[in-house]
Amino acid sequence: MPTSTSRLLLLLPTTTYRTEAFVDAASKLGVELVCASERPSALQELAPEALVTLDFRDPVASAETVARFARRRPIDAVVAVDDLTTVVAAAISERLGLKANSLSAARAARDKHTMRRCLASAGVPVPRFRLVKLAGDPGALAEGVEYPCVLKPLMLSASRGVIRANDAREFVTAFRRITAILEDAVSAPADEVRQALLVEEFIPGREVALEGLLVGGTLHVLALFDKPDPLDGPFFEETLYVTPSRLPETGQDRIAAVTRDACSALGLTEGPIHAELRINERGPFVLEVAARSIGGLCARTLRFGTGLSLEELILCHALGRPLESLERERRSAGVMMIPIPRAGRLTAVRGIEEAAAVDAIEEVAITMHPGQAVVPLPEGWQYLGFIFARGETPAAVEEALREAHTRLHFDIE
Ligand code: ADP
Repeated sequence: MPTSTSRLLLLLPTTTYRTEAFVDAASKLGVELVCASERPSALQELAPEALVTLDFRDPVASAETVARFARRRPIDAVVAVDDLTTVVAAAISERLGLKANSLSAARAARDKHTMRRCLASAGVPVPRFRLVKLAGDPGALAEGVEYPCVLKPLMLSASRGVIRANDAREFVTAFRRITAILEDAVSAPADEVRQALLVEEFIPGREVALEGLLVGGTLHVLALFDKPDPLDGPFFEETLYVTPSRLPETGQDRIAAVTRDACSALGLTEGPIHAELRINERGPFVLEVAARSIGGLCARTLRFGTGLSLEELILCHALGRPLESLERERRSAGVMMIPIPRAGRLTAVRGIEEAAAVDAIEEVAITMHPGQAVVPLPEGWQYLGFIFARGETPAAVEEALREAHTRLHFDIE
């Protein structure tokens, strides 16, 4: 079949930041897109062949709906965008007989407890962990825990609900706070994941994110990002990502090796992965491996070969097209996920031009709009915006991002 007629199903949660990037990639590659979302689009009646509504919480029903659709309009590949759609993508791919991660692998990577069990039993270094029921008495549970620890929900993302506790009192407060977050979280898929949380050993050390692409079970490291800001809690707000990593090469090799082992242990074989690891004198520890690419707008930091975007790579791989190059460009690049200074309502953003004028800064993208409620972690999950930089060295990129950030002012009432 000529490549120009490929049709690809993109699973786009309504909360995603990445619609534009994937739609652009598809149009550059001449791929026909069918977009699925969990809420009917106002445009669906106008474009019934290009838009589908799926209940992402129900992978089996979603696979049936797509199978019916595909009888009329065959689908060549399925791509999950963000954590919310990785399992349903695997279910649809399985139903359509497409090469993709198995449903069990996607499920294992999506549930933090299953992931921990799977990795630990394969000998992949992970924090010590235990599952605790939300129905339990937090005061009693707190007695049996080693401190410092980290409490986290089983299935949220973007560090939402992830809280460090240094003693029993903080444990009880964190436990109650996560319970309230889970009661509120409409996107938490199944009931069972609302009924328990994970308590883990706090792993000190430097944190990195590994962006990779699995092709036929082989992991290709696309980029390793340092996170130069300390992430010591009590909440874990992501700020700076800078690539290439400044860790010694041996450390980077160990991180890649452990991530490979983690992918095999989970059974992930195809498509993008985004892994978070911590490294200290005991070696690297896997915090998570997600079967999706980097979130927010952060993929804008990455360019490959002759200028391909991460989204173009992902679509090419999904369609089985030859991958021109998986080499990231030579220059350093970075992003700052702009930290949320406090809760309130955003009234204005000042200093955007001044921030964009800093040497090496490529773009300042403000993604919240005036009037919008600003909710910090651990409850919030939306970003104020992103600052992007490219330069000769990681240090120059980091400095530019920090300088640009000092020039931005958010008026929050
Ligand atoms: P999410 O999937 O919501 O991002 P993670 O489990 O990846 O949740 O945790 C978010 C962040 O919290 C991590 O990137 C890390 O900074 C911190 N964190 C999570 N678990 C631990 C741990 N056991 N030890 C130290 N830090 C942790």
